Amino acid sequence: MAKETLNAFDMAQQQFDRVADLLHLDPPVREFLRWPMREFHFKIPVRMDDGNIRMFQGYRVQHNDARGPNKGGLRFHPSETVDSVRALATWMTWKCAVADIPLGGGKGGVIVDPSTLTNGEKERLVRGWVQQMWKNIGPRQDVPAPDVGTTPQMMGWMMDEYSKLVGEYTPGVITGKPVGGGGSLGRTEATGYGVIYTLREAFNRLGMDAKKSKVAIQGFGNVAQYAAIGFKEFLGGSVICVSYWDRNDRKPYTVSKESGFDPRFMQSITDQYGTIDKEKAAAAGYAIEDADAWLKKDVDVLIPAALEGQINAESVQWISPSVKIIAEGANGPTTPEADEVIREKGIFLIPDFLCNSGGVTVSYFESVQNDINYYWPKQEVLAKEDKILTKAFADVYEMAEVEHVYMRDAAYMVAIARVVKAMQLRGWI
Ligand code: NAD
Repeated sequence: MAKETLNAFDMAQQQFDRVADLLHLDPPVREFLRWPMREFHFKIPVRMDDGNIRMFQGYRVQHNDARGPNKGGLRFHPSETVDSVRALATWMTWKCAVADIPLGGGKGGVIVDPSTLTNGEKERLVRGWVQQMWKNIGPRQDVPAPDVGTTPQMMGWMMDEYSKLVGEYTPGVITGKPVGGGGSLGRTEATGYGVIYTLREAFNRLGMDAKKSKVAIQGFGNVAQYAAIGFKEFLGGSVICVSYWDRNDRKPYTVSKESGFDPRFMQSITDQYGTIDKEKAAAAGYAIEDADAWLKKDVDVLIPAALEGQINAESVQWISPSVKIIAEGANGPTTPEADEVIREKGIFLIPDFLCNSGGVTVSYFESVQNDINYYWPKQEVLAKEDKILTKAFADVYEMAEVEHVYMRDAAYMVAIARVVKAMQLRGWI
């Protein structure tokens, strides 16, 4: 669908530059924040099940740790590039700052399609990643987590590898671990539910009735599944469709049902990579439409929750006039050209690093629980997450109102001010 191929890091820098201009940031501070502080590029040799060695390309980018240890996921994807990792690391700095949690920004990746690996190969690959990086990660340095293509089980293996290398059990080196293996209750749901907490706040501020609202969602992986469930169960709204990448047909589809879309049923026929069993969906009365159909629906809310760059100069034109809110569940789903159009149309935007900050917030809770070696009940985790996201939304919304700026710019203004303050307090600038 996305014809325009904007480099994600160019996009992250363009968004930053726009607000750096508004804030009149000093040139050296600006230069510092435009680039990651540190990067690691490395090869990971893995013995495959057939006995051959395969070489994988791995990355870790540490964008800024002024506010605390670097924090950010590990993405395993065939089209991963160092620039996509740089972009995601940069957004993590702004995300932790906007949520006001004491962490910096980082991100890692491996160029691989994990669905082509056996469990044993995956385990050897993630242990290999840790063997390359262990001296430069740790609870007080840099704490990885899952992202697209990585799972809680992989995090468990990575924590084990790190613990063996340093010689002591160190659950806080990584978050998103399985529950019972150092993980936090509520982490699985955290990002998708967080999208819904910020949407609830947007509905309240805009005076809209959530119960009468409809949503179209792109993606049906971790974020999208819990956003869909939360939209129906917490807000009482209707899910109209979700889209997904079909890894059997190697193309995306939209699965829709104008009334009675059941996210929990859909989840039950979706595999761990977010591919829906479309034969079962069709048998249950769902329509299987083309990939772009989700973006053309007459809904109140759009939630892009798949990959970056999906709403671009071309596809933004397909958005129905009925759409009042776009809640960016994915990182960087909107290109700068499309963003301009959304701003001009007056659609209310919940920007990515505010909207999807629930995941890192509960990751932060996971490391706090690891530190104190005491685990909170799920409702306590989710209530704490809600409180943080409600405050983050209010901070950004108020900035947008006071400064008369677009929500994305307001989120950057809040985040940049907090990072700059930490750099000043540490005497870096
Ligand atoms: P995931 O791998 O669990 O799911 C991705 C989903 O997107 C899958 O359903 C896949 O089929 C679908 N998809 C991929 N390409 C598509 C395409 N071209 N069209 C339609 N659907 C497509 O990933 P996730 O963890 O849900 O992450 C989704 C997005 O949210 C990413 O941008 C990620 O960086 C971001 N994010 C994730 C978390 C988290 O906690 N998981 C936190 C913050 C941000």
